Amino acid sequence: MAMKVIIAGAGLGGLCLAQGLKKAGIDFTVYEKDAAFNSRTQGYRIRIDYSGQESLSTCLPADLYAAFENTAAVPAPVYTLDTRMQALDNKWVDQWIKDEREIPADLKADRHTLRRVLISGIEQQVIFDRDLTGYSVQPDQTIQCFFADGETVTADLLVIANGAASALTASCFPGTGLHDTGNVCIYGKVQWDEQRRQLLQQGTSVIFGENIAGIIDVMEFNRISDAAVTPPEDYLYWALIGQRSSFGLQQDQSLRLSVPALQQAIGQATEAFPAALSPLFSGAAVTASAIVPVRHSVQGRRADNAPVTVMGDAIHTMSPAAGLGANTALRDAAALTAHLKKTIDSGLSLMETLRNYEDQMLTYSAAAIAASKKGSALLYNSGE
Ligand SMILES: Cc1cc2nc3c(=O)[nH]c(=O)nc-3n(C[C@H](O)[C@H](O)[C@H](O)COP(=O)(O)OP(=O)(O)OC[C@H]3O[C@@H](n4cnc5c(N)ncnc54)[C@H](O)[C@@H]3O)c2cc1C
Repeated sequence: MAMKVIIAGAGLGGLCLAQGLKKAGIDFTVYEKDAAFNSRTQGYRIRIDYSGQESLSTCLPADLYAAFENTAAVPAPVYTLDTRMQALDNKWVDQWIKDEREIPADLKADRHTLRRVLISGIEQQVIFDRDLTGYSVQPDQTIQCFFADGETVTADLLVIANGAASALTASCFPGTGLHDTGNVCIYGKVQWDEQRRQLLQQGTSVIFGENIAGIIDVMEFNRISDAAVTPPEDYLYWALIGQRSSFGLQQDQSLRLSVPALQQAIGQATEAFPAALSPLFSGAAVTASAIVPVRHSVQGRRADNAPVTVMGDAIHTMSPAAGLGANTALRDAAALTAHLKKTIDSGLSLMETLRNYEDQMLTYSAAAIAASKKGSALLYNSGE
């Protein structure tokens, strides 16, 4: 049975699925709303755990999986510290790996580089500047997709992979929504140089403040001269996550902050941290700094028999506290690929396949959301 799949969204989840479908010999096109691949910096680090690595290895050809491994940061230990940088031994999020040099270790990928790996070899099937706004089921059970520019395309299956706050998900999985926890995360990066080496240990430092946590990750890369995808310059990634009050923000305040207001929020959040660390968080050297609300998906259920399904943050947005969001999106990609392959090989109906995938995905993603809530409570007394 030949099948044509449309994927809405070229994020980590959508691109990993595209690679999986390519490997399985299933026809696909990805439509992405961003004008181009480099439209947004997406410059922070992303921790890929063992499950994420397995999913990538299932979906990617061997050379691209090797490119992912080769462009990940050098593994190093994780340290939990108080605001005076003294070791803490009673704070630990279950999903963290104590020492990345142990197996199975997390691999720290640069998000932009990982996306470059994921789009390699499928560039012609990823169409940018296409905002997929809706769909309708045709009498022959194919799906017609509509774009903001008035264009339409038809396929056998639409996969919604367009990230958090997806209006598309709400139409096929009614009841899906986002719970805003009232907590926020600010992240950014600075160059990792000799001067900064004096300040921090190589590895991950998690600093526990009052109702706030700072995560600082050294991203040092191996350089392989003939690599197909090259990593960026070494950098230091940081994220501050916690209750709004710790950033001096009101509960209902808009997060569209001016640069000075963002700097002020960072200053307040890091007030108790050693003064020597301040230049890491604010100042001209800091790039790609952004503020995002911490939200969790409330997951709805499929409404009808439309040949549409959903994956990634579009159905399971979660706090970054446990580092599970992207890993779960990659797991969706591997799971959906395997189910679709089974349909083609066994002749199982597409609807049965989608229901099997969704039962599995909704179970493990609900567990990941719960683990993220637990991680948030430990990191910054989230009270979610
Ligand atoms: C600071 C921070 C740190 C994080 N760290 C980690 C970590 O270490 N490990 C981890 O596992 N997770 C982490 N996460 C979570 C992770 O980033 C997300 O879970 C992951 O990006 C979700 O992937 P996705 O493909 O579902 O969605 P996205 O990556 O959001 O991609 C969705 C894509 O769809 C596109 N799109 C939107 N609307 C449309 C439309 N109508 N038509 C076409 N395209 C559309 C968007 O432009 C986007 O490119 C972190 C998140 C944050 C904020």
